[in-house]
Amino acid sequence: MIVSPKIRGFICTTSHPDGCAANVQEQINFVKAQPKIENGPKNVLVIGASAGYGLASRIVPAFGSGANTLGIFFEKPGSEKRPGSAGWYNTAAFEKAATADGLVAKSLNGDAFSHELKQQALDIIKNEMGGKVDLVVYSLASPRRTDPDTGEVFKSVLKTTGGDYTNKTLNTDKGEITEVTIGAASQEEIDDTVKVMGGADWELWINALADAGALADGVKTVAYSYIGPELTWPIYTDGTIGMAKKDCERACSAINAKLAETLGGAAYVSVNKALVTQASSAIPVVPLYISILYKEMKAKGIHEGCIEQIQRLMADRLYSEDLQLDDTGRIRVDDWEMRDDIQASIAESWQNISNDNFNQLADFEGYQADFLKLFGFGLDGVDYTADTDPTTAPASLS
Ligand code: NAD
Repeated sequence: MIVSPKIRGFICTTSHPDGCAANVQEQINFVKAQPKIENGPKNVLVIGASAGYGLASRIVPAFGSGANTLGIFFEKPGSEKRPGSAGWYNTAAFEKAATADGLVAKSLNGDAFSHELKQQALDIIKNEMGGKVDLVVYSLASPRRTDPDTGEVFKSVLKTTGGDYTNKTLNTDKGEITEVTIGAASQEEIDDTVKVMGGADWELWINALADAGALADGVKTVAYSYIGPELTWPIYTDGTIGMAKKDCERACSAINAKLAETLGGAAYVSVNKALVTQASSAIPVVPLYISILYKEMKAKGIHEGCIEQIQRLMADRLYSEDLQLDDTGRIRVDDWEMRDDIQASIAESWQNISNDNFNQLADFEGYQADFLKLFGFGLDGVDYTADTDPTTAPASLS
């Protein structure tokens, strides 16, 4: 099958198996070119492991410290008629490379929020990974969650928690700046977003693993968050999603207390940089901010993608002597994004940006290239005019 991009708003409905493999290989090559992570993890569970930050969180321990990994995700397999989703092909490529290096690489495709999937994960850890994990990365980004006990479905919304908020935004289809007004969420919508993207499911995972004796002594767990500059606070940090992230910090304290007491372990929230992923491209205002951010960070030579961020998180923070926690105990690998000089330039560009100077002040080309890459398009060395096999699948799920 010849596969080309079909973009609908902020989603691409096709993915290229060979392109996704090339994208994963680029990330593996990057990690292999870095020094090994001293005392890095050896048995890792990644929840949300097929794309974005979670995929990078699987690649770094595997190829940076020789870790066996179990990856959990919700992806669509391909068929003879239709390509599957990018995360499916990313995982196929990851598993192939990891097993070629002698590592255990297992995957589960299903609903991470369910009790069933947690049980399946415990079985794999017990039977195929020596019984215990020493790192659990929680990197889910989902628009909905079915409560595993009641069956009730909760949907997250991207709204403010104050009044209406109007600001510039980017129509990523047309490359046009427009204005968007985002309305305020009701209390029910805030509560529902917290149920989906908050820390409750992270706690359920850790409790299930702890109860089954599947956590190693000194285990670490980390979940990802975002803060960003004041200009995005109404839609992010002070918005519904920000309330969910606050709940992750609540969960983090509870998990940390439990792990410290029982296993000498620790839980962290890591605040990461804003990057183009399937999850972030759905947030109004943020893609315009990211396009300007890319311009400024590339100009200063400090731009990073997911793989560079997670390499730094693991090598220079989680598995180093100095976690460099902020005053509320969070890991900050958004430190370069939040540098005063970067943010001052962005604030100025944000003020002045319009359709007339968009390409001078923002790196939309970089944004678009990263967006296409998420689905395996635009990678060097891939012949997009050649047939590719849409039934490519992760070996552990075939
Ligand atoms: P992503 O969309 O690239 O990946 C989401 C992952 O979750 C995928 O592996 C997907 O398969 C999985 N998933 C979704 N629903 C699932 C379900 N029900 N069961 C099992 N798996 C499911 O997202 P991302 O941007 O990498 O986000 C990961 C985390 O990082 C989120 O907590 C996000 O808030 C945080 N973060 C993102 C950014 C950013 O700019 N992208 C910045 C800082 C923090």
